[in-house]
Amino acid sequence: MSTVAISEKQATFREQYKAAIAKWYNGWGHLLSIFVPGVAVIAFCVHMIHDPTIWELLLVVPVLVFYNYNEWWLHKNAMHRPIKGLGGILMPVYHRHTHQHHVYFTAQLMTYDTNREWRIVLFPPYALMVFMLLTVPPALILGFVWSSNAGYILMMLTPIYYLNYETFHLCCHVHDNWFVRNCPLVNTIRRHHAAHHSQPIMMERNMNLTYPVADWYMGTSDLNRGLLGHLFNGYNTKYVKKEFQQDQGRELDSRAQAA
Ligand SMILES: [Zn+2]
Ligand SMILES: [Zn+2]
Repeated sequence: MSTVAISEKQATFREQYKAAIAKWYNGWGHLLSIFVPGVAVIAFCVHMIHDPTIWELLLVVPVLVFYNYNEWWLHKNAMHRPIKGLGGILMPVYHRHTHQHHVYFTAQLMTYDTNREWRIVLFPPYALMVFMLLTVPPALILGFVWSSNAGYILMMLTPIYYLNYETFHLCCHVHDNWFVRNCPLVNTIRRHHAAHHSQPIMMERNMNLTYPVADWYMGTSDLNRGLLGHLFNGYNTKYVKKEFQQDQGRELDSRAQAA
């Protein structure tokens, strides 16, 4: 158990949330319900791609940049702001993220203890289904106007990016360990996301969950450094802008841990 002092509100919410998780809920089952269909689609697409040209392979670059921006946009606008249009279908996303995920995890206490708590870290399994269904029309169009390879590459990148997202977000909420502290990119997103969980800045800072590219480009990062520095910043707090230095992922701070 963590010895970090947390607010009454967070402690109470955690207890109530854990008590309300269904008896039949299983964290590994939840994880598999996302990874099995995701990996199946990736494997199918890989199987269908034959002798891709360099141009077809280079399609990966703009698509990943676009997905990185999408991740930023959706987190900033659908997960932290109530979108009441579209028949209100995005309201549960806002509620679940801003009122549950961000109360359960704060910069002061970012970690979970058992895999039953994956319930509040992972998205419901239908989220990936929705993203994959949304990819089918543009993938078909690309398949007709360019090549079937291009269509399958686009189709494959949706589950790849999404599984990357879920894996990295889970890594943000595990207890500190050698791997997450030392693995490049993973350590970066851990600090980046811990700072995002600081209540005063969660609505506008550090919206990326994989690689902080859009945050760097859009000026919504808490760091003051270039793109490469952003990507490989790790736990370093040297470049954190002055106004954000107060609430920076207490569990990542070895001085705080030793105290
Ligand atoms: Zn989080
Ligand atoms: Zn958030």
